Amino acid sequence: MHVKILGSAAGGGFPQWNCACPNCQLIRSGSFPGKARSQTQVAISQDGQAWFLLGASPDVRSQIEAAPELQPDEGTRHSPLCGVVLTSADLDQVLGLLLLRELQPLNVYATASVIHIVRDQNSMFAMLNRSPDQVRWHAISPGESFPLQTPSGQQSGIRCTSISVSARYPFYVSGRGQHLNPTEAVLALIVTSALGRTLVYAPSVAAITQSLREWLERADLLLFDGTFYTDDELIPIRGDKRAHEMGHVPVAGEDGSLRQLVRLEKPRKLYIHINNTNPMLNEASPEYRKVREAGWELAEDGWQANL
Ligand SMILES: [Zn+2]
Repeated sequence: MHVKILGSAAGGGFPQWNCACPNCQLIRSGSFPGKARSQTQVAISQDGQAWFLLGASPDVRSQIEAAPELQPDEGTRHSPLCGVVLTSADLDQVLGLLLLRELQPLNVYATASVIHIVRDQNSMFAMLNRSPDQVRWHAISPGESFPLQTPSGQQSGIRCTSISVSARYPFYVSGRGQHLNPTEAVLALIVTSALGRTLVYAPSVAAITQSLREWLERADLLLFDGTFYTDDELIPIRGDKRAHEMGHVPVAGEDGSLRQLVRLEKPRKLYIHINNTNPMLNEASPEYRKVREAGWELAEDGWQANL
């Protein structure tokens, strides 16, 4: 299975248009010891022909243009993209669907609650269903396994299952969230290749539960929530929410993922969905060194692996 990271930053990207934090200022000046990143987007394929996106980032158009394997190669209308698996209704996970309209047939896999929020409560997404053979929505449930299929019904060889990792719905559904199933808000995906190799994709994790930990221990490749380095990282910038309140386990600290996953030895481990304020983006920083010494890597745009 091909795994290609098209984007690795949290919502807003790095640099973020309205941010002048030390990281964003330095990278604009051209003197930052680290890399710019677009918003988190991963593409997978068993055969290198039929591709599926994990999430649909607002940067997906430029991400496709940077990845030749995702570009059309026949006829006037064609795409190797066959489907999208949504892990939440967060804008940085779903806005890209609007960029994938243009009457293209796609399978979209998401929980019934996320489908309801995106398709039924936001009229713009009706553009995905202008014609009967355009987007087909598939409701998935945490814990249930499902195959990824092409729009014409062919098996890709890839199977997914999911686990609930947060009960937090996005701010834009506040007031309606209490009617939605809390186990369907945010998922981690367990993606299994035709050879039985496993990717765990968990860009947003509120808490590392025992059941999540068991999946992580069996994984071959892990893409894990690296949004914030510390719980209070955003306090000097926005003055409000802590990482935990925003549904993210921080990297460092007593209950950070570095410490909680210190004995996780099997998978290759990458932090993804990294916020522009995160000091580990600076490759000359002690935070970057600490993460690397603990056996973790930082996801970068364009990174790829085969499972
Ligand atoms: Zn910034």
